[in-house]
Amino acid sequence: MADQRRKPPNQPQTTSKRQWSLADFDVGKPLGKGKFGRVYLAREIKSKYIVALKVIFKEQIEKYGLQHQLRREMEIQTALRHPNVLRLHGWFHDDERIFLILEYAHGGELYRELRKLGHLSETQAATYIHSLTKALAYCHDKHVIHRDIKPENLLLDHEGRLKIADFGWSVQSRSKRHTMCGTLDYLAPEMVEKKAHDYSVDNWTLGILCYEFLYGVPPFEAESQKDTFKRILKVDLTFPSTPDVSAEAKDLISRLLVKDSSKRLSLQKIMEHPWIVKNAKPMGICPT
Ligand code: AMP
Repeated sequence: MADQRRKPPNQPQTTSKRQWSLADFDVGKPLGKGKFGRVYLAREIKSKYIVALKVIFKEQIEKYGLQHQLRREMEIQTALRHPNVLRLHGWFHDDERIFLILEYAHGGELYRELRKLGHLSETQAATYIHSLTKALAYCHDKHVIHRDIKPENLLLDHEGRLKIADFGWSVQSRSKRHTMCGTLDYLAPEMVEKKAHDYSVDNWTLGILCYEFLYGVPPFEAESQKDTFKRILKVDLTFPSTPDVSAEAKDLISRLLVKDSSKRLSLQKIMEHPWIVKNAKPMGICPT
């Protein structure tokens, strides 16, 4: 498998004359089903390079008026090159479908791993938070705010390295945004209040994820949406007595889940935080 990965497929369509078509691929087993189509394991016939082929039905995209969002997702993801950001090698379409040629993440969803284990070890959690922080620092540098970081959008490669996927909600922005988006539990207070928000929404989400990795549930979970919103706005943060989580981890979470977005720990400070320094595997490789 490793040999097949070494050679990337030829340049993506956006940067070369290469026009991909379904005839260039041997399509294998389904890897999963998303809201707008399925993802298949596939091999580019000429290079033998293994990819994940995401098939999206145009009719569905048009039905929900998401053409612009999809194009934005494809453009953003194609331009990003980082070991912790899932590569989009290119895309093509036929009359009915759009095909995204994605890097194959052999380990699947981090969410599945989290559900299987209940919660993660401090080494695993710190390694993933460190990888995510590095990827977000890279994205923010390129003026990309992800806004929808959640375990379902995080994939693992064959070595257990984290990959941010699904840039459907991300925006390329130099100014504050007003649109409400993202998944409830992971929303920052300023997004709940539909106020202007900026890069620091992703820092808040890192706090939510760090908590969920260590405790198995997001911190502001409640019976109803309304109650989740209330808990987010109050920053109603409590740490259960089990599992036993170190004081340093709780310190990092408390410094990220701060209502005033300007007072949240910066991405640089997260990478320097004692809990990360002590627990994160430097290469981001964390077999489970
Ligand atoms: P999505 O449509 O992006 O939500 O993907 C549906 C499912 O397919 C996900 O839940 C993953 O389990 C799987 N999947 C998506 N992209 C990949 C990929 N690049 N590599 C491996 N599995 C993937």
